[in-house]
Amino acid sequence: MTHSGLQTDDLRCVFCFGPVARAQDGLSCKGCNTFFPKFRNAFFIGAYAPDDALGLMEVASKVTFEMDIEETRRNRQKAETNLEKKYREQRESAAAPKHQAAAGSSDMAQSVRFNEWVAFHLLTENVDLAGKKVLDNGAGLGGDTIRLTNRGAHVTCLDFNPVAVDVGRQLVPEARWLIATSNTLPFEDDAFDVSVANAALHHMHDFRRSFREMLRVTRPGGTILLVSDPFMDRKDAPDQREKEELRIFAEHPMVLNGVNEGVLPINEYYECVSLLEDARILTSRINDPAIGNTPTFWSVSDATRDKLYRSRGNISAIGTVPHDKSCVRRPADDLIDARAFFETIGSPIESAGFLVRYMDNANLDRAPKADISKFDLLNGWMPAETEPNIWRAYNRGRLFYSADALRGMTSIRIKRHDNGADHAAQVAVLLNGKEVKSEPVTNSRWMQVIPQELGQLQDRNVLEIAIKDDKFNKGAIWGELNRNRILEVEFK
Ligand SMILES: [Zn+2]
Repeated sequence: MTHSGLQTDDLRCVFCFGPVARAQDGLSCKGCNTFFPKFRNAFFIGAYAPDDALGLMEVASKVTFEMDIEETRRNRQKAETNLEKKYREQRESAAAPKHQAAAGSSDMAQSVRFNEWVAFHLLTENVDLAGKKVLDNGAGLGGDTIRLTNRGAHVTCLDFNPVAVDVGRQLVPEARWLIATSNTLPFEDDAFDVSVANAALHHMHDFRRSFREMLRVTRPGGTILLVSDPFMDRKDAPDQREKEELRIFAEHPMVLNGVNEGVLPINEYYECVSLLEDARILTSRINDPAIGNTPTFWSVSDATRDKLYRSRGNISAIGTVPHDKSCVRRPADDLIDARAFFETIGSPIESAGFLVRYMDNANLDRAPKADISKFDLLNGWMPAETEPNIWRAYNRGRLFYSADALRGMTSIRIKRHDNGADHAAQVAVLLNGKEVKSEPVTNSRWMQVIPQELGQLQDRNVLEIAIKDDKFNKGAIWGELNRNRILEVEFK
């Protein structure tokens, strides 16, 4: 099917979610009048955020794709036929198809292509794509789109790289092409039968949010397919994650030819796939005789993090979109209401209470630990050098809890640091901006806080511990604290 004209009835504005319509040289939102421009014949229905700047710099630095469009089209079809032939031969000669081992780094790219092909076919063997409306999310130059169009799917290709869309549109004119960002897809709910991210998830800078968007735009009972992403053991701290990514990139520098390259922490990937019904996970490890080159399927319940991590290679998954999509945080929740936020500026307590509802789950219910992240530091905490379960508030400390986690906690004990002066400091505990307790605290007289007794809990709560002084009474808690007024907080 050729989309000679751009179908717009399933599109929506990324700001107000209103319908969009063709306008002179672009699309226009009927709700908020936002104009979405064209870039070389493709529409950009999105908004780049500051987070996109680095990726866009990479895009701009790799702007030239010099290729013969017709020849590339022919070569792609030929390569696809060869991969299929190789797969059939292997299947006839062995009980299970073998992933190809790479003999050397020059074979690596070919080997990766073959493994992607095998993963796609093993996972979609029983999925009927003919006549289905399919989203190819992060389509790049459309190199994998051929697998979808060859099986009769009506494909919409989307990428945030306008240059890739310009070339991909010429290479795969059978598909509808759009420029947009994966974390705010410009489609109505349930617009697709199938959504695919083909070696694309690890290029998305917030892939969990992108995944939820795929869930939103795919109809209940439809299919989500994630093909071939690199993964690593869980990395909770951003700097840890970055270090591990850099280590992996150093081993495989060719991957840096991509844009926004990343390696997915397995726990975050698993968090996404667990939202699907009947999910199946496939891992491969290239060229590791100890594990073998046979692809391994896991059900979600079998795919423990340890097993997955041991099997390494790349990871792929397929699953069914559930009818209950309450797990999907709607993009409306993700857009911060700027005007409401501005009203809280000037009161850090109110701002925190306002912003906690937008906070990523990874930052909720964090247990005290010895190594503290940038996130913790920004929220007023330092690790105590000697006792790993004790946090030290160097200014004021904020903790973010779900109602359940807070209810399940036995107590919080607050005291002055042992090295501190023996005189009392008035310490206040605040829940969601409201003072719920205030007591004089010394290094021998501790304040005991029972979370269940604090008062009205919300789904997400900000617990603050602050020295109460004149500044606090004026509504600010940025007290001028010095070393001997440091607090300790202990969790039981
Ligand atoms: Zn709008």
